[in-house]
Order: sequence, then C-alpha cells, then structure tokens
Amino acid sequence: MRIVSGMRPTGKLHLGHYFGVLKNWLKLQENNQCFFFIADWHALTNKYKETDSLKENIEEMIIDWLSVGLNPEKNILFIQSQVKQHAELSLLFSMITPKSWLELNPSYKDLKFNLYYQYLKDFLLGKNIKVLQTPPPKSLDEALEEATGKQKNKIFDEYLRELFFRAFYNQKGIDFKGLKERLILLGVNKKVVEEALKNLETGDIGKDIDTVGFLSYPVLQAADILIYKADTVPVGEDQLPHIELTREIARRFNNLYGKTFPEPKHILTEEAKLLGIDGRKMSKSYNNAIYLSEDSKSVEQKVLMMKTDPQRVKKTDAGNPDVCIVFSYHKLFTREEAVRDIDNKCRKAEIGCVECKKILATNINQFLEPIRSNREEIKKNIDSYIDIFKEGSKKASEEAEKTMEEVRENMKLWKF
Ligand code: SF4
Repeated sequence: MRIVSGMRPTGKLHLGHYFGVLKNWLKLQENNQCFFFIADWHALTNKYKETDSLKENIEEMIIDWLSVGLNPEKNILFIQSQVKQHAELSLLFSMITPKSWLELNPSYKDLKFNLYYQYLKDFLLGKNIKVLQTPPPKSLDEALEEATGKQKNKIFDEYLRELFFRAFYNQKGIDFKGLKERLILLGVNKKVVEEALKNLETGDIGKDIDTVGFLSYPVLQAADILIYKADTVPVGEDQLPHIELTREIARRFNNLYGKTFPEPKHILTEEAKLLGIDGRKMSKSYNNAIYLSEDSKSVEQKVLMMKTDPQRVKKTDAGNPDVCIVFSYHKLFTREEAVRDIDNKCRKAEIGCVECKKILATNINQFLEPIRSNREEIKKNIDSYIDIFKEGSKKASEEAEKTMEEVRENMKLWKF
C-alpha cells in the first residue's frame, strides 16, 4: 500500500503522540511504501503568530521521529513546505471545492468550539475564581457543596461546557445573548461575563482562526494525500470527515477533468488513548504530558503526581484499577502478568499507590531509555539528520511533480 501521513510540528512529542501515532507508523513502515511528513504549513493554520519556534519544533520532530525508530531507508521522510507542489495542488483544489463543504466540516466547527470554550473557561476562572463560591442555581449549588478542591473546578467545567455547547451549536450561530443570561444565573459576575463574551465576539480569539487558511486546511490536507496518489491514510476517528472530504475532492476533480486521482481509503489507527497525568487529554497546553525526551527523575516526579482511583483515600481502602490513570499506563508499560498482579492486589488493598507508581515509573523509564540515548546521538550530529529530510523532500518532490504534470495537463493549464 502507498500510505501518506503527517504531523504538525508544535513542540516536543510526548507519550500520547507515541501511542496515538508513531507506534502505528513503525508498524506500517515494515510492509508499505510510506510518505511521512512534517506538516509545517498546517502548523501555521492556527499558529501563524508563533513562527519563531517553528524551526526548533521541526528539529525536535526530526529528533523524535528518528529516535523512536522511523527508518529513512524504508520511508520517505520529508518536510511539507519543501515540496512546493503541495501548495500548487491545494490552490487548484480550492478552485473546485464548494465553500459549504468546509464550513460544514465537523472538525472545523469542533476546533473552533474548543478554542472558544478554552478561552472562556480560562478567562472566567482566571479573572474571577470566586465564581465557584457565589450561589449558583440549585442543582449546581448542591453539586458544588458535595465537592471539594479540584472537584469543584471539574463540576464548574462540566456545567460551563454544557452551557457553551448549547449556545455554540445553535442553529442561528453562537447564541451569545442566551449564554450571557445563563452565566449570570450561574452566579458569574455580570461585568466579567460581558467582558469575556465581548472578547469572544469581537476580540482576537475569534480572529485568530477566522482565516482562509484555517477554514481551508482540509483542502491542503487533500492535496497532501492525493499528490502522492496514496491509496491509504491512517487516521484517528476524529479525522474521518477529512478523509471523506479528500475523497469528495478527488471525485469532483476526476468528474471535471478526467480520472486523475484514486479515492484513498482510511485505516483506523489502533489508538491507545493515553491520558495526561491529571486525567485530561495529554497535551502540552495542559502541562500534563510525559515527553519522549523527559529525563528519568522528571518521569518519576510526574508519575507520583498522577491521579489514582479517587475513592481510594487510605492504603487500606480497596482500589478500583478500572478508574485509575496509573493503571491505564501499566497496561502499556508493564508486563501482562505483572499487570494482572497489580489489578488483583489493588482490589484487595494489598499494594499502596506509591509503590504502584514507583513500579510504573521504572517501567516508563525502561521504555524511554533507548529513545533518550538515540536522541543524544542524533543531537550530536543534527545537521546530517536534517539532510535525511532534505533528501526525502527531494524524492517526495519528484513524485509530486509527476502528479502535477498530469494535473496541469488534464486541466489544460498553460505550458510554455
Ligand atoms: S494501587 Fe495502583 S492501580 Fe490501584 S488505585 Fe493505586 S495507583 Fe491505581
């Protein structure tokens, strides 16, 4: 199979990236022709103000990819922006892609939702933490009364998310007015609500992603895939609408200008979802990730901070590994037999959480050790490893040019 897949260079990679993407790529590289690229143009779609860190992020990605074992002998590893044909094909696709296909794209809406929601939440909690102590409507009041410490934040988060969800996915656009009324009812200071919503409606937060580039990034993604006539794309479930859009663009192009592109299939990656140490999605922005480059001491500290079964207060309480973050890590880093043993002992209160965490930290460190030493080797001679990507970009460019010649010809574009 010919496979294309890319990753945005947004910083050092963490264990979530490894188990969500890289592990799968390592499998795919064994029996397929793979084009793996660093999607630096995609990184600009919502991080266009942060170009200072782009070069460093690309270098980090090169180091991470090679240190986990992506093999340049088996794959074409390249940098998207060094293969200009991606931009040309994307431009031509944008001519034939109806705007509504992009506006209706669920992941575009979801990304916008998440950005808006995160802003609103940070603003409210940061500006007016007292919101949690003011008397909100009865049901929330009761819920908060039961809760302590961080749980309060969680409950507030759930309520706020639900409210914002209803306002955001309103038929007639975001219902800011309704949201304002409900937030005030929740006990949030009126002035703070007004300021937050005004920033959302008219401030930079909306504008950051209100760009042509952001809206049309699925078109660039279609070009990334179709330019190599890939038959297969490995994706997570949330990416499925993009692949469907890629197929629709290929179909439309073929109908207009004659059969040029295959319609790629997707393979769902067997994603082992690894949560961050606080139980939320693992992400740099939540400061809850364990990085591939993390040193052993820091791994230990982070594992000791991990959330466990919240009902297990004392060592003598029986635990439930099914709801424990530490245990979900054990399933990935610990031998099967030992996992069964921990499961058993936890349920009978025969092992304490600190001991359990120490075992996990040792196992994560064992897993990371070879990656760390590969990283050190690569860093010593980074220029020659960057050359691998330079070579890969040349090869990718030759392949992309073959497709572009066909595209230009089929579209009957001018040629000197
Ligand atoms: S013993 Fe281990 S699996 Fe059980 S609750 Fe504690 S950390 Fe989690």
